[in-house]
Amino acid sequence: MHRLNSFLSGTWSPGEGDGAILVDPSTEAGIATASTRGLDLGGALEWARETGGPALRALSFAERGAALKALSGAIHEHREELIEIGMTNAGNTRGDAKFDIDGATATLAAYAHFAKGLPDGPLLPDGEGLQLGRSPRFHGQHVWAPRRGVAVHINAFNFPAWGMLEKAACAWLAGLPVLEKPATATAMMAERIAHIIVDSGILPEGAFSFMAGSAGDLLDHVHAHDCVAFTGSSGTAQLLRAHAAFVKRGARLNVEADSLNSVVVGPDVDDDSEAFDVFVRDTAREMTQKAGQKCTATRRVIVPEGLADAACEALAVAVQAVKVGAPREDGVRMGPLTNADQLETVQAGLSRLAGATTTVTGGAERLRDPGFFLAPTLLRAAEARTPELHDEEIFGPVSTVMTYSGSVDDAAQIVRLGGGALVASIYSDDRRFPVDLASTLAADCGRLYLSGTRLAEHGTGSGLVLPNCVHGGPGRAGGGEELGGLRGLQFYMQRTAIQGYKSVVEAAFGAR
Ligand code: NAP
Repeated sequence: MHRLNSFLSGTWSPGEGDGAILVDPSTEAGIATASTRGLDLGGALEWARETGGPALRALSFAERGAALKALSGAIHEHREELIEIGMTNAGNTRGDAKFDIDGATATLAAYAHFAKGLPDGPLLPDGEGLQLGRSPRFHGQHVWAPRRGVAVHINAFNFPAWGMLEKAACAWLAGLPVLEKPATATAMMAERIAHIIVDSGILPEGAFSFMAGSAGDLLDHVHAHDCVAFTGSSGTAQLLRAHAAFVKRGARLNVEADSLNSVVVGPDVDDDSEAFDVFVRDTAREMTQKAGQKCTATRRVIVPEGLADAACEALAVAVQAVKVGAPREDGVRMGPLTNADQLETVQAGLSRLAGATTTVTGGAERLRDPGFFLAPTLLRAAEARTPELHDEEIFGPVSTVMTYSGSVDDAAQIVRLGGGALVASIYSDDRRFPVDLASTLAADCGRLYLSGTRLAEHGTGSGLVLPNCVHGGPGRAGGGEELGGLRGLQFYMQRTAIQGYKSVVEAAFGAR
């Protein structure tokens, strides 16, 4: 079986022992192993801090941006090979694998573009200068400086390419070395990309490290200046939040976690309108793309009472048209869940909801054996305020239709039962409804996607994370924030107020 390697302190190493087994979720056959046992993780972080940090900080923003552009190209050259890995190790359809890989290279290219126009010096000015005393001679300027630590990136299994490179793009442009720790279950894609990055020689020595296998004692070696960006379940996030690296040593932690994203259909939408068709098209895609294993996938579909039958019927027809099977079979548009754990967790979630919902289509039955296949599953809730509907994310191809009165307040209250989300979408052609609901929900979601007839041919749908908009959400979603153009660099930088004699401060640090 193929053995994945870690790249630490400038050396590739397989780790010790048998390691975890990675499988092909379509066949359940073991395809690779990964272990970090016996690896010196503390030494690896120190090497990154001491070698990669100074080397990256010696480059200008423009030079770091050029490196991102070159990396995007180098990875894109291996696109076909990476698609094959996504099909084998993650059960991705070709389209799902492309979504992950192209998302990764496009985000690198976008950050290369954002780097243009940044100053030549090592610091980023933050806003305008300030007069600090009665005399204008006493002047202040806020600046951002790269932190002198490592960007430690712990990623989820569902986007091994995109998750890795969207975080890395921000950290490298800010001037920090990266240590990437992908989820073990789908680490084949990340490991292949790690080889491409190292072999390309584009980054300075120490700027990139990679772990294949469990986190081990990694966090015990995280120092005050390090920045840990985590994406994964809220259970793991809870463990991390309590760790001494953050509680005692004061390292930074950004959390991207679960989210019960919702779609709200406005009271103006009829089942024979174009807005209704756009809602059905987008929601069916969000349920089935990557077998629903997307942090932005739609979990709750909130429709006016009079529209529930039509919504259930149209969504059922749309998802039943999605052929489920192994990614290389003809016509397949949805692959299996990623591994046995994911299948069991989704099945357990469905049985938790059984008392509160009826099944419109699909269900918890495995479609074939071997393979972790489930049908896209649409549920209908008897009562929208039932707590189980809003308590736990089911990370698979599952959504629940529930009803509201048609008022902004009622819709907002139901959305809020999810306790904070990455994204909520509103489908309406009304002039007031989307504006009022978006204003009401602005603090409850990291992103609000307003759609309807006019956006039908122009919008991406709510599931696409764009590099120039922030990704993250309050509460259950982790409270973190990533991307958002140059905002994404701030997590990796220290904001400092420089005070002094005006001409000195302006000459050295002023905004240009
Ligand atoms: P997970 O089980 O929480 O694992 C996430 C990462 O944490 C993996 O790399 C895992 O490594 C690592 N990890 C586990 N225990 C750890 C520990 N004690 N210390 C340090 N690292 C540890 O999540 P998952 O199953 O991979 O991903 C699915 C979840 O991610 C879903 O809940 C989904 O909503 C969420 N997600 C959120 C976003 C977002 O942007 N908000 C995006 C994607 C996914 P191993 O794999 O080696 O155990």
